[in-house]
Amino acid sequence: MTQETAKLVIRNIGQILSGKLEQPILDGDCIVALDGKISAIGYEKDLDTDQPTTLVDANGVTLAPGLIDSHVHPVIGDYTPRQQQLNWIDSCLHGGVTTMISAGEVHAPGRPKDIVGLKAMAIASQRWYENFRPSGVKMYAGAPVLEEGMEEQDFKDLADAGIKLLGEVGLGSVKTGETAQKMVKWARKYGIQSTIHTGGPSIPGSGLIDKDIILEADADIIGHINGGHTALPDDQITCLCESCTRGIEIVHNGNERAGLLAMRTAFELDQPERVILGTDSPAGSGVQPLGILRMIAMLSSLGDIPAEIAFCFATGNTARMRELDTGMIEEGMSADFILIDSAQHAPGKNMLESIHQGNLPGVGMTVIDGIVRSARSRNTPPAARLPFVVEQ
Ligand SMILES: [Zn+2]
Repeated sequence: MTQETAKLVIRNIGQILSGKLEQPILDGDCIVALDGKISAIGYEKDLDTDQPTTLVDANGVTLAPGLIDSHVHPVIGDYTPRQQQLNWIDSCLHGGVTTMISAGEVHAPGRPKDIVGLKAMAIASQRWYENFRPSGVKMYAGAPVLEEGMEEQDFKDLADAGIKLLGEVGLGSVKTGETAQKMVKWARKYGIQSTIHTGGPSIPGSGLIDKDIILEADADIIGHINGGHTALPDDQITCLCESCTRGIEIVHNGNERAGLLAMRTAFELDQPERVILGTDSPAGSGVQPLGILRMIAMLSSLGDIPAEIAFCFATGNTARMRELDTGMIEEGMSADFILIDSAQHAPGKNMLESIHQGNLPGVGMTVIDGIVRSARSRNTPPAARLPFVVEQ
């Protein structure tokens, strides 16, 4: 063990959720991470746990991958001008979110809509979140909003400058399927992933994007398929699920009934791996520090699916679709974890059952890149048992 290697050992884990649909619960009571990456998963007696730089006793609680919010609208640092709120990202960390993906920095006051300006803002946004992670949360940002007049060279320029995401297609002046399709193709050609707005207008200035535009545009992810807020009619939602194989994103700031319909349709198609979760915050509905946990509890309870499956929607499914090295408990992945337990006095014989009954778990600790970032959540209901740092 060299002096400079950071070794995290988490022992006495009660249950490990993998984030992977094919095997959502793993055997083991211990995880080891070296320099921020998972190096071993199993039983403490079988693993090399000597000389940790940080030793955590999980106290019998559940370890899950850090949650991923697939749809946020950040602007700068840990401040959102949308509702004039500070520290919203830190609040979400206390709700178990360790990674966020921007669907466009659309709330920037005076957002440039000319092409050189929108490219400059996207590149600057990508940089400032790469250089500054609020409370350690990984924010993938720098997601330009498409405007009329963009040419193939613009997408190449953006990709060359490190841009990997488009903002929601439809939030700018590009609103026809034909133009959107052309630009989404250029983006894909240069390795930039795309999401499209789905449903009625979100706020004054945005517009309706219906199933015909979405299918023609063929973006990688059907952004907030349950509307943000206004959902499409049910027949259009099922048609979108059935007519393509793109990501089915369900958000907190959408229509919950439509979200359940989209999830059930994905299961009927035997394609649950397409379901991913976001909050679509900050927005008119504000920010939701517990939004992803609430989506997990809502889909598990009202949709009647096992809670460990619902966790996969917010972890491994999103990581695979977004090509991230997090969201799964697997050797080599980033050591991004949450330690959670039943909330105090929650019904159900264990945490998964209490979530399946519609209750939120309590977050007891978060870990990002192998570093403990927060202890008992200030936002969730208090967990019955709490993990603790034994030595550091
Ligand atoms: Zn939207």
